[in-house]
Amino acid sequence: MSAHHPIMLCQPDAHKSCSACCGLYNWVDHSRSALTAIVDAQTELFFALTTYDNLDNYRNQRNRKINNTKLFETIYNCEFVGYIDSEHKKVGCMLHPAVTGNPELRNHCFYGSKVCNEHFCPGFSCLTTPEQRAVVATVHDWYLYGLVITDIDLVKEFFKNVENTIGESIKVSRLDTPKIHAALTDFFTLKEHWKFQAKENRLGKYYFSKAEYNIARIEYTQKWGIPPSPFDKILISLESDFATKEELEEAETIIQDKITAFIDAYNRQV
Ligand code: SF4
Ligand code: SF4
Repeated sequence: MSAHHPIMLCQPDAHKSCSACCGLYNWVDHSRSALTAIVDAQTELFFALTTYDNLDNYRNQRNRKINNTKLFETIYNCEFVGYIDSEHKKVGCMLHPAVTGNPELRNHCFYGSKVCNEHFCPGFSCLTTPEQRAVVATVHDWYLYGLVITDIDLVKEFFKNVENTIGESIKVSRLDTPKIHAALTDFFTLKEHWKFQAKENRLGKYYFSKAEYNIARIEYTQKWGIPPSPFDKILISLESDFATKEELEEAETIIQDKITAFIDAYNRQV
């Protein structure tokens, strides 16, 4: 933690953590079960090592165990992501000096120790402290947490819609109630369970095609002759793909209901 980063988003508490920038989600199948299988395998292999002298051997064994395909070829999927706690609630760097006692071992990864040590993702700079606190307080497991804390549009657009409706900035002192936490958990859970999620090659607002990636778009005017949804950024973050205008309208209703539930709980604090 530092004055610039009062909340350590990578490892915020004992219940979850994030390894998104280590390539954890960069798999074609990045479902919870698929990533759990990868982290399980990497953890088991790594902590069976009796020495760190032959990490290439570890890497080869790990590659043979993984039955998945990279989503975007040029993003590195670090083989050293594993569980760093005995309860397997926290994913993190198995080469970290706190785990190995050796500050140089991260030079065995593609990025090297310096980059691994000094990287702070946009969640640190783009999310406000209340937004960071809201995610940390209401997302309770590593899989969903890593998806949400790195999805700047999802988090910011939720609070922007709330603040536009209530006509003022959110007061962080009013966020700490069970009903507000439940409303936020309910909204953030959409990130994992979204009825209109595109089937292929998406990760948040990005879609991938061979060695290229682009920001996804919903063609409102072209498909249905309507202007963009007020929830456009949220819908794109959720990887939405709509076959009909009715599906879009249903999605908008779901999101509006979550925002309204939050505002109702928030207003009860006055
Ligand atoms: S993506 Fe951000 S929060 Fe997650 S581990 Fe990397 S720097 Fe930390
Ligand atoms: S070595 Fe670097 S990229 Fe790999 S898990 Fe550790 S911090 Fe992430």
